[in-house]
Amino acid sequence: MSKRVIVAIDGPAGAGKSTLARRIAGKLGFLYIDSGAMYRAVGLWALRCGLDLSDAHRLEQLAKEARIELQPENGRVLLNGEDVTEAIRTPEVSQAASKVSVIAGVRRAMVAEQRRMASETSVVMEGRDIGTVVFPDAEIKIFLDADVAERAQRRLAEVQARGEAIDAERMAREIAERDKRDRGREMAPLVQAPDAIYVDSTHMGIDEVEEAVLRIIRERTSNGKEWNS
Ligand code: C5P
Repeated sequence: MSKRVIVAIDGPAGAGKSTLARRIAGKLGFLYIDSGAMYRAVGLWALRCGLDLSDAHRLEQLAKEARIELQPENGRVLLNGEDVTEAIRTPEVSQAASKVSVIAGVRRAMVAEQRRMASETSVVMEGRDIGTVVFPDAEIKIFLDADVAERAQRRLAEVQARGEAIDAERMAREIAERDKRDRGREMAPLVQAPDAIYVDSTHMGIDEVEEAVLRIIRERTSNGKEWNS
């Protein structure tokens, strides 16, 4: 007998969720799903269309019409057939993603798609509401956190590694602003699920975090005997 397993990783921006989720999925042979990339794709499309980012009706329509593909073989993100992998990573799109994700209709469309993507296979999905709303029955829930200064520093290093210039203070401000909006919104706010395991990665390297989380997963899933990747 094999069983589908869901690993939900939630937490604030810059905590290291994407890196961790990608590595864990690779180790376990599970599908990696970056739910933030989906909200980013909607944000990007809304910006390009010049929409008012608080227009709930138009944004819900847009979210329903968006064809978002997360290509597992190469990590590319496609929006309506166009490769937007780099385009969705700008600071403007980060803010737009966090604004459109406040809208209930946008969230409903994304959650339906996320559940569909995980309907037939084991997944590691990361975001803000995976363990609370998308998969409240997930076998494993991790809440990955880190100090805001450390998170801003990590994001800064990522942006600089891509050869882009951004001022450190602006980065810290944007992360704090996004955190506040994500935690304070009415629908599916960023909050730790009661049954999630809290991991503070402020003083941990990625290898250490990965090892700790893999240990938790193994403990909770009969040493992997039931996994179906
Ligand atoms: O994870 P990432 O920083 O790429 O997400 C971009 C934005 O998308 C977040 O700031 C948040 O507002 C939104 N988001 C969300 N729910 C998720 C994933 C992301 O609201 N599950």
